[in-house]
Amino acid sequence: MNLILLGAPGAGKGTQAEAICKEYHIPAISTGNILREAIKNGDELGLKAKSYMDSGKLVPDEVVIGILKERLKSDDCKEGFVLDGFPRTLPQAEALDKMKINIDKVVEINVPDEVILERLSGRRVCEKCGATYHIQNKKPKVEGVCDFCKEKLVRRKDDNVETIKDRLKVFHDQTEPLKEYYLAQNKLCVVTEYGSVESSRKATLDAIRGNI
Ligand code: ADP
Ligand code: ZN
Repeated sequence: MNLILLGAPGAGKGTQAEAICKEYHIPAISTGNILREAIKNGDELGLKAKSYMDSGKLVPDEVVIGILKERLKSDDCKEGFVLDGFPRTLPQAEALDKMKINIDKVVEINVPDEVILERLSGRRVCEKCGATYHIQNKKPKVEGVCDFCKEKLVRRKDDNVETIKDRLKVFHDQTEPLKEYYLAQNKLCVVTEYGSVESSRKATLDAIRGNI
């Protein structure tokens, strides 16, 4: 099964992608994670992407399309995959179609902007394993320390209020039009449940099963 998760930054795409990954035994592919990994490793790709990412802008299409093409060639994608954070623009969606990759379903996780702002401005992430926390809603057992690997928790550079607002604008301007694109292909389902991780997970899995 080939799936796309669509949604604003902070809508919970990463968390839901993990749930889908467990349920269907398909890899979750996050272009954001691939890019952050490249930055951490000091790769050329990372150097190219860093300034865009830090300021909340999109990395150029040809760069992310190239990354995705490579990633989808891996053996673990043969039985399917779930894309988290790709496509984000119309040319990216068209690139997938040109690659003759049949997408079964596109799930949009719809969360109001004010909730996103609150979530992302309080988000903290583990530098090592990527686990995410929130300073109020999902505190680690020990402040500033990851429950799983005991590493330091940090605030992502793009998780400050100004940059979050810019990312939301980019989402509304460039990514949201993809809803129309996939609606026209009869692939879109919208999940409006964001109250808790669990309720959102249930709604997302229901949507994939075709119950919504
Ligand atoms: P979020 O969904 O919280 O914004 P991501 O980890 O998906 O986080 O993306 C972080 C940043 O990485 C984006 O703001 C953008 O700069 C870059 N990025 C990730 N995926 C794409 C993509 N498909 N197209 C362009 N830029 C991307
Ligand atoms: Zn950790």
